[in-house]
Amino acid sequence: MNYQFHSLHPPNQFVSLILRPMAKTANPAENAQLKDIIAHAKEYGFVYPSSEIYDGLQAVYDYGAYGVELKNNLKRLWWETMTRVHENIVGIDAAIFMHPTTWKASGHVDSFNDPMIDNKDSKKRYRADVLVEEHAAKLENEGKVDEAKQLTAALARLLEAEDLAGVRDLIINEGITCPISGTSNWTDVRQFNLMFSTQVGSVADDASTIYLRPETAQGIFVNFLNVQKTARMKVPFGIAQIGKAFRNEIVARQFIFRMREFEQMEMQFFVRPGTELDWYQKWADVRMRWHLALGTPAEKLRKHDHEKLAHYANAAMDIEYEFPFGFKEVEGIHSRTDFDLKSHQEYSKKKQQYFDPEVNQNYIPYVIETSIGADRLFLLTLCNAYTEETTEDKTRVYLKFHPAVAPVKAAILPLTKKDGLPEKAQEIVELLKYDFNIIYEEAASIGKRYTRQDLIGTPFCIAVDHQTLEDNTVTIRHRDTTEQERVPISELHGRIAEATSFRRVFERI
Ligand code: ATP
Repeated sequence: MNYQFHSLHPPNQFVSLILRPMAKTANPAENAQLKDIIAHAKEYGFVYPSSEIYDGLQAVYDYGAYGVELKNNLKRLWWETMTRVHENIVGIDAAIFMHPTTWKASGHVDSFNDPMIDNKDSKKRYRADVLVEEHAAKLENEGKVDEAKQLTAALARLLEAEDLAGVRDLIINEGITCPISGTSNWTDVRQFNLMFSTQVGSVADDASTIYLRPETAQGIFVNFLNVQKTARMKVPFGIAQIGKAFRNEIVARQFIFRMREFEQMEMQFFVRPGTELDWYQKWADVRMRWHLALGTPAEKLRKHDHEKLAHYANAAMDIEYEFPFGFKEVEGIHSRTDFDLKSHQEYSKKKQQYFDPEVNQNYIPYVIETSIGADRLFLLTLCNAYTEETTEDKTRVYLKFHPAVAPVKAAILPLTKKDGLPEKAQEIVELLKYDFNIIYEEAASIGKRYTRQDLIGTPFCIAVDHQTLEDNTVTIRHRDTTEQERVPISELHGRIAEATSFRRVFERI
């Protein structure tokens, strides 16, 4: 088996590693598919490069009219899955800035590092471990499987021994060159802390340095007792949060897969010590079912156990999705023991204990964490939905979103701009617009308007024609099948509500 090494967050003493099967290297057709998806996302209002008029800012993206709707729907679905479906989970919205000691206690100040190296000729910066991993993947593609294996094993040994000079020697001895300059004129390998820092207030000294949070989880840990007491929660219980996180990633690529500013959806579940591994399995299964319920095909998802655990964890796995560039992590499920609460107790000198009346004992709870990036989930959803269907001489492109998360639920389309059809269509808009995100459109032929809705993934197109004026029926055209059916206007609200309800997803979890 071949392995690739991957830095794991949160940190351990140096660069923490997990051993995992090497991701299948994407073939050119798969890369073409990602290019198509990126182009589609931009052209049809889902995702744009940030501050594009100034040529963009690397690894930062903005969401457009349909992108923001899709992302909000995904976040709302996650939120409601956590806080409504489970009566023992409540939410929180902690600030991005936190007391700097938080990050000392969590280990991020000392160890949230990646090893970086610069090429002196191109002045480009790389993650040293990724350069070696990619070289190993190339060797494997050339059929040199044993060589690839030895290389990744050597890298693991060097990183574990904190031997950065050794990592540099490995890069040079393997003849790894900069893809831009083609030379091996490398600097030393240095550790690079991924946290962004800034100054609070007007005095710029060390004491005023604060960080943009690199994960949302610590906002939950430091509020554990506040929430437990004020929401009167009993262990086992969970706290869920959605919010921005920031990481100064050295290499940021693959579109919104790896960003410097992104959003996390994390849930920390507090349990009695000794019960954590049962809860860990339970949450891993629940989260997997959630992805399946949203329509992600089982063969595109896999669980991957971390063979080598970070020091704070006693079990950890990733849920991976097969992106066009291979199987990659979408969500992490971690059994984090009592590491974080214990450390905050130590640094803050405030007890972080819970009195459990059932066992008549005080203890620091153990924690199971489910952590998913909203942007990665967005990319998964987009990759999954993007469909090209070739029939005879035509290719039809449409986005096959689950109706519950589709950005626009229905388009109301009068067949012509006259004969009272727009007025009738507006009555339908009034009927639906307070409960669903809908679009009204009267320009262009009906065929062109159907195509436009396909491209943004609208599940239902509702055509208003002359018959509508006579019998109050409309045509519903279904996105995935393009089939059409005649339906009374009075049934529209109920049908759309049924198809787009989160309940349909919840019932399958
Ligand atoms: P990776 O190995 O891909 O960097 P990680 O193991 O560091 O991820 P975690 O720290 O476990 O990730 O973060 C939890 C989730 O947050 C990830 O599963 C991912 O969905 C998301 N995430 C982490 N880093 C980024 C990023 N730079 N851009 C977008 N999403 C991210």
